[in-house]
Amino acid sequence: MRPEIIIHQPSCADDVDKDSLRVDEARRRILKAITPITDIERLALRSALGRILAQDIVSPLNVPAHTNSAMDGIAVLSSDLPATGTCTLEIIGTAYAGVPFKGKCHPGECVRIMTGAPMPQGTDTVIMQEHIKTQGENKVHIGASHRAGQNVRQAGEDIPKGVTVLAAGRHLVPADLGVLASLGIGEVPVKRRPRVAFFSTGDELRAIGETLGEGEIYDSNRYSLYGMLTRLGVEVLDLGVIRDEPQALRDAFARASSIADMVITSGGVSVGDADYIKPVLSELGKINFWKIAMKPGRPLTFGQLSKALFFGLPGNPVAVMVTFYQFVQPALHYLSSGTIKTPITLKATSSSDLHNRPGRFDFQRGILTQNDDGDFEVHKTGKQGSGILTSMSEANCFILLAEDCASVKRGDIVVVQPFDTFI
Ligand code: AMP
Ligand code: MG
Repeated sequence: MRPEIIIHQPSCADDVDKDSLRVDEARRRILKAITPITDIERLALRSALGRILAQDIVSPLNVPAHTNSAMDGIAVLSSDLPATGTCTLEIIGTAYAGVPFKGKCHPGECVRIMTGAPMPQGTDTVIMQEHIKTQGENKVHIGASHRAGQNVRQAGEDIPKGVTVLAAGRHLVPADLGVLASLGIGEVPVKRRPRVAFFSTGDELRAIGETLGEGEIYDSNRYSLYGMLTRLGVEVLDLGVIRDEPQALRDAFARASSIADMVITSGGVSVGDADYIKPVLSELGKINFWKIAMKPGRPLTFGQLSKALFFGLPGNPVAVMVTFYQFVQPALHYLSSGTIKTPITLKATSSSDLHNRPGRFDFQRGILTQNDDGDFEVHKTGKQGSGILTSMSEANCFILLAEDCASVKRGDIVVVQPFDTFI
């Protein structure tokens, strides 16, 4: 009998195969395939938190609306201020926030004023309460070294009327809600949220509450995906677990792509006998790429399924999260806002030796801390295997060992990308 021909001998270069796309090229292709959402809905201000502004907001008024005092004290005419010695002024009234002083101040006169009260006519400067000396009810002594115009907030100094205060495409943060409220705007146009349908694939997967048979495991990917998606504020459509059967996958693909802007699956994208994601995608949609020169997460299938974008993430729980943060998250950001957000990276001293194989982008899980001098240090979480999901729980950053990066010795500077809090 003829010996079976082994087409590809195993070698240490296996993880660096030349058909794999570089990480930056994969990101470029993903962004190129996306048409940002244009549908607009109007939301009450509070509901707009975390949403993408759909149109520029032009200020309908000045903020503050009136020139007003930044301090409790007295409002004076700067021409009355003494260059040396003291002057004595007559108090002719009081101005409160919301209850302005109606009269006019003449030279030699002043008005008691509270923080936020409009500046009385004739005045241009406020002397702090702590810097004056009153005499009886109506007289006040003021010393030298005050500056003309001090402690006064000019009308429109925060937001002048007619300027674009928030631009379309902006991700609305708590301060923006305050800014919009300060303009009297109670409703804003925002982009529709992307709808993301996702499911796990695998005959070995069981749901929480079921008893595990031999070789079975609980489906964890759907939960980490749920967490990552929910935090991005997208509309999450959980379609459960689908068996490793082509027809079941066809049905799930059809359903998911009919209800979502993006379909995400996990598992079944490798070269195993039960890995049907790729063949089914090429049958019903289009494959853009399916292999990336990275670790973990090499088998990642990206393409189009009807009108929906399709991400076939690997099955290994760490690879799911790494590929989500590196590719799906920027894709969702661009899909929802039309803007590209470059994640923040920091330089940190590595407290661990890190092995890297050139030609492949390695995303090691790290724990970033700040030492007593305020400098960043990072050490890797223990085991780095793509099935060690606890490494993602422990980690707060990826240590980025790019394609051209050599192995790292303890004490070397590395680049890290935080993906969670710094705690
Ligand atoms: P696959 O790519 O389908 O061969 O899966 C790779 C590895 O990830 C296998 O060990 C699977 O059992 C595991 N895996 C796949 N899907 C899940 C999931 N939803 N939750 C936990 N582990 C999974
Ligand atoms: Mg599988």
